[in-house]
Amino acid sequence: MALAEFDLIRRYFASHALQHPFNQLGIGDDCALMTVPSGYQLAVTTDTMVENVHFFADAEPDLLGHKLLAVNLSDLAAMGAEPFAVTLALTLPKIDEHWLQAFSTGFMQLARQYNVDLIGGDTTSGPLTLSVQALGVVPQGTALLRSTAKVGDRIYVTGQVGNAGLGLKVKQGYACDKPESLLRSFNQPQPRVAEGLALRGVAHACIDISDGLAADLSHILEKSGVGAVLQWDRLPMSTAVIDYVERSADWRLPLIAGDDYELCFTVSPHIEAQALQAFYCIGEIVAEPGLRIERAGRLEILETQGFEHFS
Ligand code: ADP
Ligand code: MG
Repeated sequence: MALAEFDLIRRYFASHALQHPFNQLGIGDDCALMTVPSGYQLAVTTDTMVENVHFFADAEPDLLGHKLLAVNLSDLAAMGAEPFAVTLALTLPKIDEHWLQAFSTGFMQLARQYNVDLIGGDTTSGPLTLSVQALGVVPQGTALLRSTAKVGDRIYVTGQVGNAGLGLKVKQGYACDKPESLLRSFNQPQPRVAEGLALRGVAHACIDISDGLAADLSHILEKSGVGAVLQWDRLPMSTAVIDYVERSADWRLPLIAGDDYELCFTVSPHIEAQALQAFYCIGEIVAEPGLRIERAGRLEILETQGFEHFS
């Protein structure tokens, strides 16, 4: 990339002093340097967003910057990891200063909110593709896995399901009162980092809801060799989602729509209620494999196909 273009990247991404004590050297050399204190494990994750696959071509760049970072921090949250650094790989069709300014503002605002430093990255030209690698730490042996749910566990979510999915429908033309908060859920998810940290030593298994509650909970079920029964009446839903379900009869939306980025986790039934009072109990882990939901007096089997890129 030519020097002038590189100066632009530097202007938008390298002008922030490092904040987190683990980070010693950030943008500007061949590698970044950081020190993880002994007794901790490093948690590493990557997520990529591709134009016309993960976001619309007319997406607002500041919202893209926010969401790109949020989905990566959400993966750390789901492990109970504390984020401290990210790298950013940008593939851009052209240098657009307005776009870069807005994108970096959305990205860096969320980074500062979580005390995360941007410590490096890569910039290339090509079809718009945005990729982040996020680094976090967990005290040795305390990470929240998918594989450790136990029969008899209660299943919880940290917040409402279906708002982001309905926000996508609003973008596609669904009309309702006050669509703004639905669009905010879709465009600007809040990673449940504090909740993930609070669940260390409490939850048996945990995952973040990116592909939909049914698909993501099914990952816990498969990895743990168990099944689950959910209670429809206990699903936390906004009035907008409840209205949508009543009007459309599409009651599966809050179960299969993605992008909510709440955490779904399981806990022993003996855990004190106080540790869980901010969360919503939606069902129970059972021995029989598969995912079922009790709704209107019937037990329905839930298909758990998430989004498949190559099908
Ligand atoms: P190299 O060719 O040695 O990989 P680059 O020219 O790609 O170096 O990058 C120079 C410096 O700028 C590195 O520290 C790299 O991490 C950083 N960098 C490049 N692109 C980005 C970006 N989009 N966001 C953050 N840092 C970046
Ligand atoms: Mg490079």
